[in-house]
Amino acid sequence: MRQVSGVGPIPTLTPDMVDRFVDWSRGAERVVIGTHLNPDGDAIGSALGVSLWLSALGVANDVLCHHSPPSYLEFLPAVDRIRLESPDKEFDLGIVVDLDSLDRLGRHQDTFRSLSRLIIVDHHVPHESPGDLRIVDTRAPATACILTDLLDQAGPGLTPEIAECLLTGIVTDTGCFRYPNATAESLHQAARLIEAGANLSRVTHHVYSSRSEAAVRLLGAALNQLQHTEQGAIAWATLKPELYLTLGATDEHTEGIVNEILSIDRVKIAAVVRAGANGVAKGSLRSKGEYDVAAVAQRLGGGGHRNASGVTLDMPLEEAERTIVEAMRECLGSS
Ligand code: 5GP
Ligand code: MN
Repeated sequence: MRQVSGVGPIPTLTPDMVDRFVDWSRGAERVVIGTHLNPDGDAIGSALGVSLWLSALGVANDVLCHHSPPSYLEFLPAVDRIRLESPDKEFDLGIVVDLDSLDRLGRHQDTFRSLSRLIIVDHHVPHESPGDLRIVDTRAPATACILTDLLDQAGPGLTPEIAECLLTGIVTDTGCFRYPNATAESLHQAARLIEAGANLSRVTHHVYSSRSEAAVRLLGAALNQLQHTEQGAIAWATLKPELYLTLGATDEHTEGIVNEILSIDRVKIAAVVRAGANGVAKGSLRSKGEYDVAAVAQRLGGGGHRNASGVTLDMPLEEAERTIVEAMRECLGSS
């Protein structure tokens, strides 16, 4: 247990968790690793970090994801391990990272639900509590932070490739240590990863300085049609499918737009609402300070963290926009 002043003891990595994680991994014939759909740097970096660690132990493994990694993560070591389709193989252990409910595995959820042993490593506010071994710390700014400690203690040690994958997870989930979730501990973990061979400037170059023109133009269009209410404390952009067609943009190009909206001084809660696949609508929510958008998302069937959350709504875009704006208003009023 770790003592945090004013909060009391909170569960963290125990020697028993590390032992079970290592024993179950070593004892497995073939491991399947999974993470959430629309994967971000923490999802992909954490999944690849675990995959490389298992390979270093000599344990066969596959990494499954419903969607391909966004192009800014293609520099990651072993990114070609990510499979969209499950291989026709038997798995005796699953390790799921950066995920609070198994439906976020998309088309791979049945593969994981049918396993006899499942490990969850995560930092989301739990939504469901699946898994036989749960290594979950909602105070960790990234799943990759938990994995840094776990894999460091697990032996045979962090290789430069594992370290670079995990550093990418920490950098992306903390906005390169700018968000309020960044802690002294996460900076220590990042330092540990750099000591192990990760290259911070390479990570930040790929994550922040290699955006496609379509992504930057989509950001411009979103800011141009920004809407707001409550004296500008709530701001959002709704991205219609036609806009993507005009700009040659795809869903991955929406990454980061909501943070730019939140960066406006008077904005307290921001959202990007857009059409997802199969007629659903997606909302990305961000907030400053005490405004809890995880609670907003959970009420609408989504999830995430206090200052960064998301929802998937089975309704037309305009209705999703109204629903999300109303929920943001309630959040502003009740905080
Ligand atoms: P983003 O807005 O970057 O897609 O997601 C922000 C956070 O919300 C992430 O932690 C992500 O895992 C979570 N999140 C995004 N969309 C959904 C969703 O549809 N359902 C759930 N449960 N969580 C989501
Ligand atoms: Mn994460």
